[in-house]
Amino acid sequence: MRLLVDVMCGGIVSYLRMCDHDTVYAGDRGLEADDDALAVARNEGRTIVTRDGPLASRIDDSILLESREVEDQLAELAAAGVDLTLADDPAFCGRCNGPLERVDPAAATPDYAPNPAEFETWVCRDCGQHFWRGSHWDRVAETLVRVRESADE
Ligand SMILES: [Zn+2]
Repeated sequence: MRLLVDVMCGGIVSYLRMCDHDTVYAGDRGLEADDDALAVARNEGRTIVTRDGPLASRIDDSILLESREVEDQLAELAAAGVDLTLADDPAFCGRCNGPLERVDPAAATPDYAPNPAEFETWVCRDCGQHFWRGSHWDRVAETLVRVRESADE
């Protein structure tokens, strides 16, 4: 999905990107004003995810969240039909939403990243951040399992 997450819901942004949703965070683009967020959503064909009822009511393509907690917000999204399955081959940078590409197993990587010959690794073409399926990925996967279970109840 193509999403625009408003400034009140920043905690869910990286989860959505890791689940292969093209996710613009309003805070990254300075879209604090409703009119600005609506214009971007319309121009780019994005569904607005927000806790702001009046904002959601101004556009058909919106998902209104009630919770303040990240896991509860994710459960609300799952209940609204947003697929929260981690991507096999992630396409969007969790930090900036830029395009990811696979790192060659023989390539050099920064000190914080593992050896790409041992771990599948991706790099963001926009911000240069490296990603791999390490402990952070595992924690996100566990969270999403809980979220999908609670959404099914
Ligand atoms: Zn990036």
